[in-house]
Amino acid sequence: MKSLQDRLVVVGEPLATLEEFFPGEGTFEEKGIIYSSIIGRVLIDKHKRELGVIPFKTLLVPKPGFRVIGMVTGFSNHYANVEIFCMNGVKLDHEYTGVIGRESLGKSHSRFRGINVRTYVSENDMVYGIVISTVNTILLDISYREYGVVKAYCKFCGNTLVLSGKGLFCPLCRNNEKRKISIFYGESIERLVSRT
Ligand SMILES: [Zn+2]
Repeated sequence: MKSLQDRLVVVGEPLATLEEFFPGEGTFEEKGIIYSSIIGRVLIDKHKRELGVIPFKTLLVPKPGFRVIGMVTGFSNHYANVEIFCMNGVKLDHEYTGVIGRESLGKSHSRFRGINVRTYVSENDMVYGIVISTVNTILLDISYREYGVVKAYCKFCGNTLVLSGKGLFCPLCRNNEKRKISIFYGESIERLVSRT
């Protein structure tokens, strides 16, 4: 089991002792102390009892397994385009564009498959998802219960929609809308960033 810590460490920062861990990539050892040799985040492999540091830059290039937050900016063919503005707990300066398509709903959501992608996300929605492929495009998966739309706006009046049963509801114009909703719908952006 591996765990990635939130905190950024700097070059030469003491991280642990040799009694606690074996020094992994991105570290050096001196007199029984493990130090970081790069700027990045600490990755602990409990199984191997190894402590390494992953470079900050690596954290900012999308890879399968990375969790992201983004905004749906539009649709092209059978895909929704998502401007990714947060990944791995880091707010991004230059945004990556990901896509949501039928493959994003997995096998567990057979009820969504075969249906237009607009059935589960709309323009300007904020979504929380996980990267499943970076081969041609950054493909996001939103099938699991934690993933999906985390903030959405009413298509008639622009007011923020609130949860109502299994759907969304506009308190102003009493409009009902449907999405693939995350269990974290309505959480503050800071809380959501900490989940990536
Ligand atoms: Zn409304």
